[in-house]
Amino acid sequence: MTTVKDIYEFIDNIAPFKTAMDFDNVGLLVGDINQKINKVLLALDITNKVVEEATEIGANLIISHHPVIFNSLKKLDANDVPYMLAKYNINAICAHTNLDISKFGVNNSLAEALGLESLQPLNICYSENYNKVVVFCPKDSSNVIRKVIETENVGIIGNYKGCSFSTTGEGRFVPMEGSNPFIGDKGRCETVLEEKIEFLCKKGQTRRIVEIIKNIHPYEEPVVDIFEDKAVREDLSLGLIGFLKDKMSVENFAHHVRKCLKCNGVRYISSSKMIRKVALCSGSGGNLIYDVIRSDVDAYLTGEIKYHELLEANKHDITVVDAGHFATEDVVINPLLNMLSNKYRDIKFLKSSVLKDIINYAVN
Ligand SMILES: [Zn+2]
Repeated sequence: MTTVKDIYEFIDNIAPFKTAMDFDNVGLLVGDINQKINKVLLALDITNKVVEEATEIGANLIISHHPVIFNSLKKLDANDVPYMLAKYNINAICAHTNLDISKFGVNNSLAEALGLESLQPLNICYSENYNKVVVFCPKDSSNVIRKVIETENVGIIGNYKGCSFSTTGEGRFVPMEGSNPFIGDKGRCETVLEEKIEFLCKKGQTRRIVEIIKNIHPYEEPVVDIFEDKAVREDLSLGLIGFLKDKMSVENFAHHVRKCLKCNGVRYISSSKMIRKVALCSGSGGNLIYDVIRSDVDAYLTGEIKYHELLEANKHDITVVDAGHFATEDVVINPLLNMLSNKYRDIKFLKSSVLKDIINYAVN
């Protein structure tokens, strides 16, 4: 039985809610954490129409990027979305700036959609520290432990998951009075062929993964050591810098963005440079313009930018493409849906079909 809590924890694992910006409002914003999940709808925003869609298809959880409650509520009308969610018994989990900066999140999905390579941070806003977790287990149980490392998304190094290192050795113990040993007899020293499995784990994930491992470990008293790994740190960034495979003209780059994001149109300002090194920030990214200028890129792609910020870019001969808030963020929904569908195969995850970009472009 999959509950709202399971989905909440899955999202918290790939995009920790604690990494959201101070002004943000994320997490389970409406609902009951213990409720059983029937079907899940994913949408960039939870609008009235999205709630109606959820009721029609029988979904009792909506996962959205934009928070369904952002500013403080003074009253709730029957037509207000949080009221409708409560009325129809629909839960809402919102992953906003925590999903923007996640490695599995919006900016990475945007970079991937554009075919950018060798990604680097544009503006570091959160640094994640790591632990080295060391588990000792009987050799026969080592595969089960390694499978957990893989499925729970720990042991991640760059684009590799399930990374661990094992050494085999002898474990010794004497079960005392009151013990209930998995192997061996009370009062006799037992020698067991054991494996020592080491893997990296984000500090914020450590408690949970140690709990899971201790639950599946066959020993009555599993030994799990945790060391702070000062050599590893992950910097999470509000925007990214990446490289196109081939240089392209400003006009071709603007068309490339429109095609990759399947958007109605893009606005852009030109420069004298061919485009290869690109900075991007999904959604409203105009305020990162000075980070963009400092990063010496050929172009900046974002979803919202003001005229005076465009003038600054123009002064430094940087192309800017504004592909719209919706198109630069909606790009995360399908990858998130795929991750959830792979993990929870008994539950149907659907992308909203009623939520579309409401901005049109009149051309020619
Ligand atoms: Zn947004």
